[in-house]
Amino acid sequence: RQAFQLKNISTKPSRLMDLIVNSLYSNKEVFLRELVSNASDALDKLRFLSVTEPDLLKDAVDLDIRIQTDKDNGIITITDTGIGMTRQELVDCLGTIAQSGTAKFLKALKESKDAGADSNLIGQFGVGFYSAFLVSERVEVSTKSPKSDKQYVWEGEANSSSYTIREETDPSKHIPRGTRLTLYLKRDDKGFAHPERIQRLVQNYSQFVSFPIYTWQEKGYTKEVEVDEDPAEAKKDDQDEKTEPKKKKTKTVVEKYWDWELTNETQPLWLRNPKEVTTEEYNEFHKKTFNEYLEPLASSHFTTEGEVEFRSVLYVPSIAPTAKDDIVNPKTKNIRLYVKRVFISDDFDGELFPRYLSFIKGVVDSNDLPLNVSREILQESRIVRIMRKRLVRKAFDMILGITMSENRDDYARFWENFGKHLKLGCIEDRENHKRIAPLLRFFSSQSEEDMISFDEYVENMKPDQKDIYYIAADSVTSAKNAPFLEKLVEKDIEVLFLVDPIDEVAIQNLKSYKEKNFVDISKEDLDLGDKNEEKEKEIKQEFGQTCEWIKKRLGDKVASVQISSRLSTSPCVLASGKFGWSANMERLMKAQTV
Ligand code: ADP
Ligand code: MG
Repeated sequence: RQAFQLKNISTKPSRLMDLIVNSLYSNKEVFLRELVSNASDALDKLRFLSVTEPDLLKDAVDLDIRIQTDKDNGIITITDTGIGMTRQELVDCLGTIAQSGTAKFLKALKESKDAGADSNLIGQFGVGFYSAFLVSERVEVSTKSPKSDKQYVWEGEANSSSYTIREETDPSKHIPRGTRLTLYLKRDDKGFAHPERIQRLVQNYSQFVSFPIYTWQEKGYTKEVEVDEDPAEAKKDDQDEKTEPKKKKTKTVVEKYWDWELTNETQPLWLRNPKEVTTEEYNEFHKKTFNEYLEPLASSHFTTEGEVEFRSVLYVPSIAPTAKDDIVNPKTKNIRLYVKRVFISDDFDGELFPRYLSFIKGVVDSNDLPLNVSREILQESRIVRIMRKRLVRKAFDMILGITMSENRDDYARFWENFGKHLKLGCIEDRENHKRIAPLLRFFSSQSEEDMISFDEYVENMKPDQKDIYYIAADSVTSAKNAPFLEKLVEKDIEVLFLVDPIDEVAIQNLKSYKEKNFVDISKEDLDLGDKNEEKEKEIKQEFGQTCEWIKKRLGDKVASVQISSRLSTSPCVLASGKFGWSANMERLMKAQTV
């Protein structure tokens, strides 16, 4: 037996323990989630490595997790048949707090404290192995790696900053492969060793772990047993009902026994038939998979067949990503890629979704990719390109679905959070203009409060109107007061108000919608189809000299001074040249260079 000190970079272990215990006090039960997720990770690693080293599976044991409770003594054991740990790995993984999930937890704890988050939120972060000490006095980790022929035991106590490692010499405690954790619960926490409580916790926290989790449960079945008749009773019966034939008496007894019971849903959600999955289950899966606490705005579950076969569940989250992982930094871990149910990676940078759609979350499971798929393969693969195309299409269908939701607020919410992303899509993804355009929303001269779609605009066009008119400004108020608008308002022609700086560039990239061009009403040659040549000639004659005089006075400050028919009440307006920047663009460019 050898004793070690816990290694940690910044915080003393005892203080660290206090921190964890205090901040999670009302949330102690997360220990089970953490330990089960470590077991599941260990099984995942084994399954992944066994693809190239089938020998790893030679100790023919099933890949599963088994949780046994001893309620009289307050002991829980969690056994997995995963990758296990060598002696060195025990030292490295469990002896260095800063390296484990605990360090991540501390960071998250600090960040969320700064943000004033409550402990419920904190409970969503990975606390890691050390959460075992939330409820345990003493923890034993007995583990056997396929890389080693010996089994080792790590032992640590809640109130100590040291641990020991010894070889497991008792053959009755040997396991073929994997890890067995034994938790000796604190006096006040022995209640966790109740089999029903463990079962509930597994169902609550680890429902979607993709390996079977068995819990050791007391079961019973009833059976009828014949009983010897009480002679007095029999006599009484005889007298009462003389005509009844004599029956043998039986009694129902319950036979009790203990057995393993499958406690989680092992089939991953995406493999199930979409018709049989409820919205609640999709929402729950979203929460568990992405550590989310809000329900998604929409989800989509589909299978594609043919050229490339894969299954996927996608989500539109209900809030925009935080500043950390926004559009500019699309490495969001939002898409989890599986190959034949084996988790491969969630580290993507545009391979499966273009960056403007990086807010879409989901899982993708393919049967066509190799299990040892690397980043290079992902980037070059024709299969991945086809997958990406389909995923993008499905994502747009899903978003379009929100526009048809009974609850109008849903799309307003989507637009508020992800409108910018779609506008970026207008600039970056020409190929999908047809899918993006119907999803865009703008205020207009006839709808200053509720945003409208292009379809609504087109619906409202005058019979002889050919173009879609817009004006870019820095707010609805300034758009509304622009002199350019007068004539169109007078003619009852609707004008879109582009008030977000990116709007104008986005629309210019689209160029047209349903064969109607976008026309900036602040540009020089706006043609409303109402030219009266006679009258114009007259006016030109009358005011020609005035124009010349104004041009002379203003000199280089303007390109030209022209007679216009586009105003109704204002005497004059400053307009942009046909080929120049609009005033709004000019403002933008200036803002960028200053
Ligand atoms: P994390 O899971 O975030 O890495 P943890 O504190 O939960 O952090 O676990 C620390 C490390 O200990 C894991 O990364 C893993 O290497 C090792 N470990 C924990 N539990 C097991 C297990 N059941 N089987 C194999 N390795 C494990
Ligand atoms: Mg962990």
